[in-house]
Amino acid sequence: MSQRRSRREHLVGDGIVPCTYCGKAAELVTGATMYPHRPDLAAKQFYRCVPCSAWVGCHDGTTRPLGILATAELRQAKSAAHAAFDRLWKAKIERDGCSKKAARGAGYAWLADQLGIEAADCHIGMMDAATCRRVVELCASVGRSSHVTPSLEMAR
Ligand SMILES: [Zn+2]
Repeated sequence: MSQRRSRREHLVGDGIVPCTYCGKAAELVTGATMYPHRPDLAAKQFYRCVPCSAWVGCHDGTTRPLGILATAELRQAKSAAHAAFDRLWKAKIERDGCSKKAARGAGYAWLADQLGIEAADCHIGMMDAATCRRVVELCASVGRSSHVTPSLEMAR
């Protein structure tokens, strides 16, 4: 019994990807299963957990997951955070005529400062749903109150 258990644990660390939510081994499927209407994705591989509606893609040509399994809620939160944040630095490009790199860099420096984290750790892709929602609120507050804008200005 204990032997079988340790063997399963070994597998979890060696090729089996556990679901972020229920902890069960995720199912490895191809893009043909995930996106039947997208033949261009047919060769890609994904880990999914149907009961949790969570999935993650793999690095091209491998079964190595790109990150942890995420639900539609987390993916939606991430894309909302990206949309709000991208709007911010794109507005800065239009207003100041600076480069995309400079505007994004200033945006991330400002965001990290607002969240109280290091700029190097400030990546929307790595945030959880709650942090993503904060990003949306913070970005919206820039549009509402002018006192936040100067810090974005200074980060240039
Ligand atoms: Zn699950």
